Amino acid sequence: MDVEREAPKEVLDQMANLPPVVDGRRRWTSWYILTPETKLRMHKVLWNRKAEKIRRWAKRHRQRHRDRLNAAVRERHTKKLIEAANGRSKPSVCDVCGRGGRICFDHCHNSNIFRGWLCSSCNTVLGLMMDNPTLLRELAGYLERFEETLNAVSKVR
Ligand SMILES: [Zn+2]
Repeated sequence: MDVEREAPKEVLDQMANLPPVVDGRRRWTSWYILTPETKLRMHKVLWNRKAEKIRRWAKRHRQRHRDRLNAAVRERHTKKLIEAANGRSKPSVCDVCGRGGRICFDHCHNSNIFRGWLCSSCNTVLGLMMDNPTLLRELAGYLERFEETLNAVSKVR
């Protein structure tokens, strides 16, 4: 209360509860003459505001974490169900080319049904060719036709 006694009289009157209002605005700048109680109250208000912000952020963060975890569990569960329905778990080699390495879970993008286990190369090719068998046959034919031309040329020579 020593601080209060040092402050001017008119200010002290206004400072009973809150800082003075000058030109319609409260003069929070006169912090140095606030009573310790007022200082504590303001501090609590500011702290609560900050704490509330942190609580909200933590809640959002927890929810996001939970959502991600749930999604992962659901995905794994679905994969297991599909594998069980298909009757076969992940092999060490590709179903098509028989190569090892990273084996992908290949599924039909329309029906969402498991098709087989492919290496990343085979899986990428299917994706790039939009799962179109005609296009893939055309490509195979294109390569074979080139091979035939090459053979014909080498026979002539
Ligand atoms: Zn393959």
